[in-house]
Amino acid sequence: MSTHHTPERSAHLSEPHCIFCKIVQGQIPSKKVYEDDELLAFHDINPWAPIHFLIIPKTHIASMAQLTPVHEGVMGRIMVKAGELALKAGALPYPEGGFRVVVNTGRHGGQEVHHVHVHVLAGERPWQKI
Ligand code: 5GP
Ligand code: ZN
Repeated sequence: MSTHHTPERSAHLSEPHCIFCKIVQGQIPSKKVYEDDELLAFHDINPWAPIHFLIIPKTHIASMAQLTPVHEGVMGRIMVKAGELALKAGALPYPEGGFRVVVNTGRHGGQEVHHVHVHVLAGERPWQKI
């Protein structure tokens, strides 16, 4: 029946071959930092810094290049959560400590996983990547 919208809608929210969608769905394990209805934060499997986790929207968005005004809420929430979670993960406070936020986008941007994610890096230097 035309009233059954749920399967069509959920098909747009995740991509079957996306590793971060699989992490959201629990099909691939992760070390979770934080989770709520629309966000997930988990430690990077190959950290560049003493503290390195990723924050993602639970819905599949390929990259920052696909963002539209409908994503302002969730992406804004990710930016606000970044500093709070960095402190909880052990980052020293601003300004002596602090953290770095990185969003790689596309091939020239160095993006490897095509589900938008915000890297949060912190801890004593040197780091493996600048
Ligand atoms: P990108 O280069 O796309 O900005 O970053 C992708 C990041 O995802 C990399 O830092 C990589 O280590 C991390 N990553 C890739 N696969 C997995 C995984 O299965 N689990 C976790 N926790 N991190 C992953
Ligand atoms: Zn995805």
